[in-house]
Amino acid sequence: MNDCIFCKIVRGELPSFNVYENEKVLAFLDIHPVNPGHTLVIPKKHSPNIFEVLPEDWASVTETARMLAGVLEKTLSAKGVNLMMNNREHAGQLVEPTHVHIIPRFTDDT
Ligand code: 5GP
Repeated sequence: MNDCIFCKIVRGELPSFNVYENEKVLAFLDIHPVNPGHTLVIPKKHSPNIFEVLPEDWASVTETARMLAGVLEKTLSAKGVNLMMNNREHAGQLVEPTHVHIIPRFTDDT
């Protein structure tokens, strides 16, 4: 067991609004959304960042992000979608485990 906040979400020890999951990944709404539908995709197996995530886990994260980008754009009637990832503190990573942001974009949301 570790104290990682997202691992606690995976284990169901912290609340989350889950959007999708399979055996390798979990996707859930960001607690401080930039826009409605702002979703995080994480590998269920803990890794700190892009430099250490297992290739097969990364493949599942990116395929899930690709799939959810389309689902979120359509269901929220968004005008586009940003995919984003921060790696290491200097690059803006605030929460350690590997995660990809999916941010639906709307008219005049800048
Ligand atoms: P980053 O590390 O890429 O800068 O962003 C981390 C993201 O995780 C932030 O957008 C933040 O709102 C989100 N976040 C931090 N703690 C929690 C949490 O406990 N639950 C959820 N759903 N999101 C979180």
